[in-house]
Amino acid sequence: MDFNANEEYAIAARGVRKTYRGAGKAPPKEALKGVDIFVKRGSIFGLLGPNGAGKSTFINILSGLVTKTAGEVSVWGFDLDRHPRQVRAALGVVPQEINMEVFFTPLEGLEIQAGLYGVPKSQRRSMEILNALGLGDKAGAYVRHLSGGMKRRLLVAKAMVHSPPVLILDEPTAGVDIELRKQLWDYVLELHARGVTIVLTTHYLEEAQELCEDIAIIHNGNVVACEPTEKLISSLDRKTLMVTPAEAVTGGIDLGAFDVELKPDGRLAIPYQPSATQVAEILERLSSAGVSVKDLSTVESDLEDVFLELTYRTDV
Ligand code: ADP
Ligand code: MG
Repeated sequence: MDFNANEEYAIAARGVRKTYRGAGKAPPKEALKGVDIFVKRGSIFGLLGPNGAGKSTFINILSGLVTKTAGEVSVWGFDLDRHPRQVRAALGVVPQEINMEVFFTPLEGLEIQAGLYGVPKSQRRSMEILNALGLGDKAGAYVRHLSGGMKRRLLVAKAMVHSPPVLILDEPTAGVDIELRKQLWDYVLELHARGVTIVLTTHYLEEAQELCEDIAIIHNGNVVACEPTEKLISSLDRKTLMVTPAEAVTGGIDLGAFDVELKPDGRLAIPYQPSATQVAEILERLSSAGVSVKDLSTVESDLEDVFLELTYRTDV
């Protein structure tokens, strides 16, 4: 791959494979089976997948913790094999596992990290970063006295000391309470507004749907979708018509080809395919079934539906 050949991408990965050698008699594990992942510069990108899908393996390949078995990766235009140092400089990675030295204060930890990345003293922003993450008043505290959520934010702070253009967060909100999660996202969104490309892995689908412009779904070591979030959701071609009947429906209703579910609040939920069905058709059916409609609305599918559909389809 040519130097700087991927100008538009923050991360371009093609055909990436990873087979872990089994320990002892354990068989080898094919954790990534040839994945293509492209992350646009300046975007917020979500890497979704169930536990064991291969998300951390992919991220650890980027950060140099795991050596890929095959494939090509470039970060900010730098080929991982030929320019590992430039790739390292372009990335800030917040690992899934919290493990950090407990002998330093947050401020010392950040200064040491900045030193490791060769950031000159005059360009260090340790206090500014700690403040942005709500850790300013803990700058001189013992790390072992920090809560789990604070430790996680400290990891984010450490990942940002060298001002990398790409920030990767591996399951950043797992086990973090709602308040801290919000604080973390505020900071991430602020970085995004300043032009930092963000990649996050999560299994909170709602979070990904809300934050990410593009999403890759990874399952059993394969990328089963990699698209703009909107497109992913509309590609499912499934909506639900919610009907409030004028009079309570008690018995079963026959709507022919359409399924209908009576909700506890008395509304009828009727799933349909927007590409193949006009809502008018459903209304005619309702009318012939003797149901008069007081109110109606449609509900879009969400990422959860897409996720179930895609992971179910490939679960063979
Ligand atoms: P995720 O982050 O999506 O939960 P991982 O990338 O951690 O998934 O793991 C993908 C698969 O690779 C899992 O089956 C996991 O057990 C296996 N795996 C991860 N790390 C190792 C390792 N160091 N040695 C052997 N197998 C591993
Ligand atoms: Mg993981």
